[in-house]
Formats: sequence, structure tokens, C-alpha cells
Amino acid sequence: MNELLRETLDRYRDRLETRAVVQDRGAIEECPPLLRRLLGDGVWLVAVDRNSWEVAGKRLARALNAAAVRWERYDVPAPAGAAEPICDDASIAQFADALRGHGATAAVAVGSGTINDIVKYACHQARLPMACVATAPSMNGYTSGIAAILQHGVKTTQPCRPARAIVADLDVLAEAPMRMIQSGLGDLMSKPVSNSDWIVSARLTGSHHSEEAMEIIEHGAQLLEGVAQELPRRDRDAVDRLSASLMLSGFAMTVAGNSSPASGGEHLVSHYLDMTAHAHNLPHDFHGCQVGVGTIAAAFLYQRLTELDPREIDIERRVADLLPWDDYRQVLRDRFGTLYEAVLPHSEAAYPTPEQLRARLRLLRERWEPLLTEVHRTLRTNESIEEELRRADCPVRFSDVGVADRDRAYASIAWSKDIRSRYTILHLAWDLGLVDQWAADAVSALA
Ligand SMILES: [Zn+2]
Repeated sequence: MNELLRETLDRYRDRLETRAVVQDRGAIEECPPLLRRLLGDGVWLVAVDRNSWEVAGKRLARALNAAAVRWERYDVPAPAGAAEPICDDASIAQFADALRGHGATAAVAVGSGTINDIVKYACHQARLPMACVATAPSMNGYTSGIAAILQHGVKTTQPCRPARAIVADLDVLAEAPMRMIQSGLGDLMSKPVSNSDWIVSARLTGSHHSEEAMEIIEHGAQLLEGVAQELPRRDRDAVDRLSASLMLSGFAMTVAGNSSPASGGEHLVSHYLDMTAHAHNLPHDFHGCQVGVGTIAAAFLYQRLTELDPREIDIERRVADLLPWDDYRQVLRDRFGTLYEAVLPHSEAAYPTPEQLRARLRLLRERWEPLLTEVHRTLRTNESIEEELRRADCPVRFSDVGVADRDRAYASIAWSKDIRSRYTILHLAWDLGLVDQWAADAVSALA
């Protein structure tokens, strides 16, 4: 196991339910004794899809059989009309039924984000332990205590018990589709923006900020130095470091108690694209690929913020322009259509009263210098983020992730603050009354 992973697991043993990350070549063959210790005896339900069975499931099956583990195979179905499984309430309920039907005492997810989240959440509800055999270094969810679930068309993150163990076989990870490896890098490249958003939220809204989680994220970021350019040739050491950094990012979220350390406005851009893709049958890309583009867009907004003269913020004019909530609901209805009902509670939770908006803008103006100084310790320019993503041939434009429609790209920046209440640069731009302008500028620069 990577030394940093071991140290982090030891140090936060009381807060992390994950007990081991087996990250190595041959990890699948190595893992049965450890899994048996962590999952206990009984019947394990092993969740796979067609692809994950081919790339890792078969090897796991041989290893479990050789170790005389009792297990059953569960093929995660794709919903009607979809090519791939999705993690929604229905797929979780189906897996929960299968757990009961087989009398399973534990489960193993073989796959990446979707299968992992279905199994993780169903096991959380059923109070059963689970482990994950990772098939791609594509996102930071393997070690996190949350599951990304599509509920009534809205992408939500729900708290749940993390995996007891993660098996990350480097030969499997390094041979994953290149787009998924790029997705993993894209997910981690959100750091400069998500950490800036986290600071802004803490300073302007008083939300919780964890120095410990920040330190874990920093360690993960250090691992990534020099990795991007090595990924296109599937260099094992680079994949090892990418994967370890993803695992640390997940641990940071668990230690912080929410996704703040690794998910800010850039993730809302990606979630918006996912939601609209699902609702209207539009193209989308892997989570981290969209996050990478969202990060460039959000960093662009930070650039605009930095150029602002705080003395020119006309607080009273902005407060006078604030729509009453009932009028804003109508705006949301027009914007979100069939997704309106699902978006409403998230939007309402964050919608400020005139007094709240005034107080927040005053705070921003008063603390402008120290706030921006703090943000600039972690923030990077959109150009430098883009350059690093390009080294790994990652997508860097909306059109690269299938969003050729400029209106949809614009909406993903200007409207997505309404899908989650946690404060980000998107909310701040909206507070200032500048989100429309800045989003239009970002799309012009990045479409
Ligand atoms: Zn992410």
C-alpha cells in the first residue's frame, strides 16, 4: 500500500471506516484473506457489469474460489433504454432485494463510480459491510463516505458508510479506457477551485472548514506533480500516484464529513450536464472530464472576481434587484422544466433574504483583501489548469465533452448554483449580480 495511504488510514482510524487500500500489481490475487478478515464469513454478493466482469471480475472469481469464499454473482442491469447502469433509487433498491434474496452477509463492488455507489449505498442501508475492486482511476469516490445518486432527475450526494477495503490492481487501473484515466485527473484538478470555494463559503457563510481534510488534500496534490504527462502512455508509477491521490481525496471528504474539500462550483457544472443529459437525452462525458472543464470555467470566474474593484460593488442596488422568492421560483420553472420540482428544495435552501444578501455582500467588501489573499494560496489560473489537463490530453472545452450547444454550456455555469445549496463561486457571482455576464464571457472563451 502506498505509504501516504497507510499513514492516513492509521492517523484517522477512529474516523475512517475503511481499513485497507490494497493498491498494487496483482492486488486482486492478493486480496481474499484480507477481505475475509474485513467482510467476515458468509455469502458475498459480487456486483459486476459486463465490462467489469471481463477486466477484473473473472480474476476476482478465481481468487475467491481458490480461497473457498462463498459468493454469488450479481449483474448490475442498465435501465430500459440506457446502455450503462446508473446509480438511482431503483438500481439501489434492486441490489438491496438481491442482497436479501441471496441471504448475503457482505458485498463486493467490481467497477468504478456507478457500481461502487449502488453497492455502497445499498449496503449502508442494509447495514452490511462492503469492499470495492476498482476498475479505473476515474474519480475519488472509492474511499468517500458519500454516494452520488440520481434522485428524481437531480444528482445528489448522500452520506453513507464507506467501503471497508478497496482493491486497486495497478494492471487493471492502468489498462482502463484512457478517457477514464483522464477523468480521474480531471476530478482531482478541481482542487484549486473547490478549495477556494470552501474558503469563500467558510468566510462568507460561516460553514465548517477542516484543516485536517485540507492537509490530506494537499498531500494528494503533491503526489500528482509530474503525473499528467505520463498518463497517456499508461505509466504504472503515474497511475499508482493518480490512484493514491484519488483515494486521499475521498478520505479528505470522509474526514471533513462532506464533499467540500473536493467539490465546489466546478462539480455543479458537471452535475448540471449530467442532469440535463439524463432528462433530455443529451450527450455527456465521464464525471471527471466534465469536472475538468467546469474547473477551467470556475477558475475563469475567479479571475473576473479578482479583477473587480470592491469599492464599486453597489450593495443597495443589488439588494433592490433581488427578486422575491415567488418570482424567482417562476424563473426556476422556466429554466429547469421537468427538473423544476427536484431542484426547488436545493434552490430555496440557499435563496437569500434581502438582509442576508446585504450582510454577505458587506462582509465580502469589508474582507476583500484577506479573503482574496487566502484564496490565492490555493487558486490557480484557468490557463495553468488547462495546460496541465492538456498534458494528459484531457478535455478542456465544453465541445470536448459533447456540449456543442453554447446555451447549455452557459446554463451549466449561470444556472447550476440552484442545484445545491452549498456556497461556491457560482453563488458569489450570482450574489454580485454578475453571473450572467461572467458565464457568457466564460463560454465565449471556452466553448
Ligand atoms: Zn468529483
